[in-house]
Order: sequence, then structure tokens, then C-alpha cells
Amino acid sequence: MKHDAIVIGAGPAGLLAANEIAKRGYSVKVLEEHERVGEPDHCAGLLSTSGLKRLGIHLPQDVIQNTVAGARIYSPAGHSILIERGKREANVVDRKKFDSWLASRAIDSGAIVTTQTKVKGFVRNQDRIQSVSVDNEEQYARAFVIAEGSRCRLSGSIELPVVQRASKYPAFQYEVSGVDIEENMVEMFYGKRIAPGFFAWIIPLGENRARIGLAARSKSKIRLDALIHNHSIISERMKGARIDRSLGGIVLVGMPISKMTIENVVAVGDTAGIVKATTGGGVILGGMTARVAGKIVAEALSADESIAKSLSHYNKKCKAMVFNELRMMHLAQIALTSLDDKGLDSVVKDASAKGLLDVVKKEGDMDLQGNVIKRLLKDPRMILTGLRAIRYINPFL
Ligand SMILES: Cc1cc2nc3c(=O)[nH]c(=O)nc-3n(C[C@H](O)[C@H](O)[C@H](O)COP(=O)(O)OP(=O)(O)OC[C@H]3O[C@@H](n4cnc5c(N)ncnc54)[C@H](O)[C@@H]3O)c2cc1C
Repeated sequence: MKHDAIVIGAGPAGLLAANEIAKRGYSVKVLEEHERVGEPDHCAGLLSTSGLKRLGIHLPQDVIQNTVAGARIYSPAGHSILIERGKREANVVDRKKFDSWLASRAIDSGAIVTTQTKVKGFVRNQDRIQSVSVDNEEQYARAFVIAEGSRCRLSGSIELPVVQRASKYPAFQYEVSGVDIEENMVEMFYGKRIAPGFFAWIIPLGENRARIGLAARSKSKIRLDALIHNHSIISERMKGARIDRSLGGIVLVGMPISKMTIENVVAVGDTAGIVKATTGGGVILGGMTARVAGKIVAEALSADESIAKSLSHYNKKCKAMVFNELRMMHLAQIALTSLDDKGLDSVVKDASAKGLLDVVKKEGDMDLQGNVIKRLLKDPRMILTGLRAIRYINPFL
């Protein structure tokens, strides 16, 4: 049987794209290698309330584990700033339930979701891909969406650009109970010695439970374990806590791939590198652009011009939609991780003393951070802060 479209990967990006294709009346099949959608999970589950609205999603209550009002950010020496922006700035979701809810929604729209089905490769016929190989058979479609996550094995096999290895940082996370934390505040810990290149986090789940995790250029688990035992604030939070489960994964910190379509194939989500470099969050922006990809696939299926030509419009649309934002976040990430610990302390101290936090509180957006970063870069107080911190550029990035 030939489908209009095949989506590879039942993560949020694949499922959101599939939903858009299916609800326009096209036959679409989602192929997922694991036994159950959403498992194993690899996420902290922090999704902004505004971002979910942008995805057109109204979540059922059982998917939401907690809501948070903002974040407390700690410098290496323990100075902190509080960014609080309303009671329900973000939701903490159960990613397994979130993904399976997205799958049910896509199925309701007419998509077929098949689990335990690993796509091994693409099969080409002259100038386009005609099918994917699965077990001992081929599955045919007119268009394909690659939503395989950050591995980029399939996208690399058909000469799409892939997310660079240098942009992939290992992450490790525990789910813990019996922690002593603020129940509605995320905590983020920066520092070259704590988590070079990224940060550690504590995300409250309610009822003294939390996700505590860390991503860095290397050794994420070893670094996280060290923080739990030795960090003055984190070890205090974790005193008497119990580790219920652990998970590992990859966070992306670079720019998206330069070209997201080839022939009758489009890459979405982590596969396309559409992730906020400042936080590694990919569900919202990856999801927003995956929805656009789904609409463009549907248009391409009925267009007079070739599918390849119609799909290529996605590159332009996606770039116009999020590339400037992602570029600013990437720059901010490079600037932050270029500083050594004294530089980070100086930025955190200055940010509260000079009133820069008011700009973030007033104009910040958890997902579209480009505007506030641009605004800060033009603010004389930020320029001063930057000049003070620049002395601490870390020569051993
Ligand atoms: C520790 C950690 C914490 C994070 N926290 C957050 C957060 O708080 N908020 C946020 O927005 N983002 C967060 N992220 C990032 C977020 O998890 C990703 O950006 C998001 O999952 C990307 O969605 P996706 O659909 O592109 O890919 P994925 O969610 O990775 O889905 C890809 C799917 O494709 C399937 N697949 C792969 N290859 C094949 C194949 N050959 N055949 C069939 N199926 C295949 C996989 O099994 C998987 O189900 C975090 C990441 C990590 C590692």
C-alpha cells in the first residue's frame, strides 16, 4: 500500500507534522521504532504556556505535573537572580504522556501510528525516494518527513546536512523525591566547573519531587553526581532525597542545519537542529516549524509543481520564522559559555544591580528570546556589564 506521506519518528515534531498532514485529508503513517510512543523519555518536560498556545495545544490536566512561575539563576559563586513572570509561565509535563497524547490527536485526525517499526533506510528510484525499508519489507509514500531526533542517521544517509557532533552535548537527569525546593520555581546553575558549556537544573514536580539534571560538553553524569554530593545549594536540596529513576540524552546547542529538504523529503525537529541553544529546549520551536512542514507537505501533495519544488519552500518559511531567533540565542550561548566563573559571577551581580532584569521580566519570552537578547545588547547597562565581564573570557573554552 502506498501512503501519501510517511513520518519517521513519533516524537513531538513527527506527531505534530503528521497531525497537520492527516487533518487535511491525506493518508499518513508514522513509524516509531520503540514499543510505546514517548518511551524512553529524554526530557525535563518544561514547556512555556505561551509556547503551547503557539502550538495550538490545550493540554489535558493529567499530562501536566506542575506549573512554574519563573526561574532562579545561580552564578558559580552562588549569587542569584530571580526571573519571575506570572503564575503560569511554564508547565512541567510528563513527556511520555505528552507524546502519547499527541499521538492520539494525530490518530483522531486520521494518521496511522505504528510502533516497534524501525526504519533502516531509504530506497531511491531515479530522482526521488520511493520507500523506506522496514524489517523485510518496503513501505511506499509520495513524501517523507524525517523526525528521528538528534541522531540524524537517516537524514545523513540521503545527503541532508546533519547536526554537527560539536553541537551535541550529553545530558543526564534524575527524578527524585523528598527534595527541599521551591515548588513553583525552576533553578539553573551555571559555571565552568559545574557544567562547562551548559548548566545544571532543578525542575520541581510538586509534592517535594523534582527533576535534577545537567548537560555539559562531557561527563554529564559524573558532574551531576558531584554536584549532588558537593555543591553547597544542590547538596542541601538533596539531603534525604531518594532517586526514583534516571535518564540520559543529548541536548543540542548549535544552529539548525542549512537545508531541510531534499527531493521529496523534509527534516523536522531535533533532526533539523531547531532547538534553543540557550536552554536545549526543542519541543516548542521544533514543534512550531514541524507544523509548518506538515502544512507544506500537504500542499505539496496536491500542488501542480513537483513535490520536491513545493517542499523546498519550507526552507525559506522555516528560516523566516525562527532563524533570527535561533541565531541570537546561539550568540548568547556562545557569549555566556565564553566567560569563566568570575565573568559569570560579574554578569549575575550586575544584572540585578543595574536593573537589567526588569527588561527580561517585561519583554522576555521563554521561546522567542531573540528580541530581548537584541534589546539587551543595545542597552548601555548591558554594554557596561559585558565590558566588565569580558575581562573573564575563558581562553580554554
Ligand atoms: C535531558 C534532556 C532534557 C530536555 N528538556 C527539555 C525541556 O524541558 N523542554 C524542551 O522543550 N526540550 C527539552 N529537551 C529537548 C527535547 O527533548 C527535544 O528537543 C525533543 O524531544 C525533540 O523532539 P523530536 O520529535 O524532534 O525528536 P524526539 O523526541 O527525539 O523523537 C524522535 C523519535 O524518533 C524515533 N526514531 C528515531 N530513529 C528512528 C527510526 N530509524 N525508525 C523509527 N523511529 C525512529 C525515536 O524513537 C523517537 O521516538 C531536553 C532534552 C534532554 C536530553
